[in-house]
Amino acid sequence: MSVVGFDFGNLQSVIAVARNRGIDVVCNEVSNRATPSLVSFGPKQRYLGEAAKTQEISNFKNTIGSLKRIAGRMFHDREVQETEKKYINAELVDEKGQIGVKVQYLGETRVFTSTQLVAMYFTKLKEIASAELRIPVSDVVISVPGWYTDFQRRSILDAAEISGLNCLRLLNDTTASALGYGITKTDLPEDKEKPRYVAIVDIGHSNYSVAIVAFSKGQLSVKATAYDRHFGGRDFDQILVDHFAEVCKEKYRIDIQSNPKALFRLRSGCEKVKKVLSANSQAPLNVENVMNDVDVSSMIKREDFENLALHLLDRVHVPLEQALKESGLTKEDIHSVEMVGGSSRIPAVKERISQFFGKELNFTLNQDEAIARGCAFQCAILSPVFKVRDFSIQDAYSYPIKVKWDNVPEIPDEESELLVFPKLNAIPSTKILTFHRKKPFDIEAHYADLEALPPGINSWIGRFSVKNVEPSETDDLSIVKVKARLNLHGILSVDSANIVEEVIKEEKEEPKTTEPQAMDTDQQPQDPSDEAPKPVNVKKVKKIVKKADIPVVSGTSSLDKSIISLYRENEAQMISTDKLVIDTETQKNALEEYVYDMRAKVESTYSVYVKPDEKDTFLKLLNDTETWLYDEGEEATKSVYVSKLNDLKKFGDPIVERSREAEERPKAEKQLRDSI
Ligand code: ATP
Ligand code: MG
Repeated sequence: MSVVGFDFGNLQSVIAVARNRGIDVVCNEVSNRATPSLVSFGPKQRYLGEAAKTQEISNFKNTIGSLKRIAGRMFHDREVQETEKKYINAELVDEKGQIGVKVQYLGETRVFTSTQLVAMYFTKLKEIASAELRIPVSDVVISVPGWYTDFQRRSILDAAEISGLNCLRLLNDTTASALGYGITKTDLPEDKEKPRYVAIVDIGHSNYSVAIVAFSKGQLSVKATAYDRHFGGRDFDQILVDHFAEVCKEKYRIDIQSNPKALFRLRSGCEKVKKVLSANSQAPLNVENVMNDVDVSSMIKREDFENLALHLLDRVHVPLEQALKESGLTKEDIHSVEMVGGSSRIPAVKERISQFFGKELNFTLNQDEAIARGCAFQCAILSPVFKVRDFSIQDAYSYPIKVKWDNVPEIPDEESELLVFPKLNAIPSTKILTFHRKKPFDIEAHYADLEALPPGINSWIGRFSVKNVEPSETDDLSIVKVKARLNLHGILSVDSANIVEEVIKEEKEEPKTTEPQAMDTDQQPQDPSDEAPKPVNVKKVKKIVKKADIPVVSGTSSLDKSIISLYRENEAQMISTDKLVIDTETQKNALEEYVYDMRAKVESTYSVYVKPDEKDTFLKLLNDTETWLYDEGEEATKSVYVSKLNDLKKFGDPIVERSREAEERPKAEKQLRDSI
């Protein structure tokens, strides 16, 4: 069984696997430790990860990134329309409220939902992990931002299911890093001592997260989290894009902002500039043929970049302050500040964070791999087949959740909602809600604080119908206990309910005898009246007795099982289409190689084993095949390549056989001689 962790990043993802020796990050097919989070569609196949990256410019409108930002979001969300759309080259469409992406695939216009796109990408990550482990991968832990809502989390779980993964846990990014920290530290305080408070700061491509985490030996507990969901590498790139687009307007008289491909080229150039500026005081920008055959080149000083980025830099302290405040701690309580994420390399950002805490920052975690390692470790803890030192994780949920219901006339003063999971509630956790009802009823879960959510997000989480509720035996209200659970994924679920009864029981309490009593049978029985009357206590106790389990039907944003299986079939179909393309290519190469190899060898190694007339026919056949390969055979099917190769081998195999026999004969003779 596989033990795998995915750090699903907005720009790139990292895969880690747990093996007996420890946790390793897996390299992909081109030996990179991170795989671009991209999917691309072509006339014959899909391109996923690295292959999609090479298509980004040439297949511009059919190559899609920002998967993490669009998963589980609605098409009309303001953030999607105002921000995310900017980063996606393909056309976004309203797919029954969800985000659909319109692409050209296999010569047709197709629309895929964001969940399907994530599933395709997971197919690739799964394939990379499987290739490394040499077994099919199923069990996995996937990281998500702590601010992900119920909709977003369910979308990732659905995507995992579509790609045939069994996601054991969706783990919050910063919690995964925290676990990565906890498992490597051997000097954490003992249980009874004051815990070590560490601030984990992750600044990635799109997003900035902070968690204040308390560590003790073998355990961690998330005390507070805070986010800036629009603070990351891409925002710094944008500052440079805006700056250099102006420069280009003046210097080259070209309007890059109005040309999506030019903008994309400039953005790639700016990302490089930004990285160079992290280690140098100035950096050149060079972009060839940005548009209209114009090559642009320019220069920027780090100081100027920092001035342009001032509005971003001035926001650095905000999540830090908020997290610290919510944790109830002071800066002095913070033992250390651990930095992760690619954008934590920006000097000005580091400086601000360091200033805020009044300490040097720590980079003891691997900035790029800490999350994936934490996920793999969590998978190992959860996996039944893997033995690891346990590490207890108490995570905290970002949003308060309330439950609402309709009142009934029998209870005039009943409340109609209840805050069930307050902010920072532990994950996982279960709460029992008690209702008095005579009929089936519904409850609805909502986010209680709209302000805290990404703007434009609906407060609705799900509707849960409690079935089979009937009046009690005395025609009164039945007592219904409903179990609401914030599960391991940070998803609200209501899976079960039951009807209970309060029974008042009279329980006799027999006087307790401390010594074992033994009856001496030899003795005459005593007159019972001689005995002092034993005191018997009668106690009335209220007992809750479960009468029946009743079903709950959930209406949430999770995809219907029938749709999941449809998407699974589609995914399997696309996988086999992609595989066929690769297999066809392999067969074509095999045929080509055979032609070249045999043509050379009949003139050399095999020349003595081939009759002259045979040789001419064979050479002609080989030459014809070569001509065919460059002509109509350029785009043939797999079976055609296979049969062409078989035709050639009918001729070639006997020649090879003769040569092999001739080679073996002296050896066999020698063996025979030796054995006599
Ligand atoms: P997210 O966490 O937002 O989903 P991600 O996990 O894909 O995204 P990371 O891999 O942590 O993001 O970071 C990628 C970002 O880090 C990119 O924007 C990249 O430009 C930036 N980055 C990488 N190296 C440097 C550097 N040396 N200086 C500045 N920025 C850098
Ligand atoms: Mg990340």
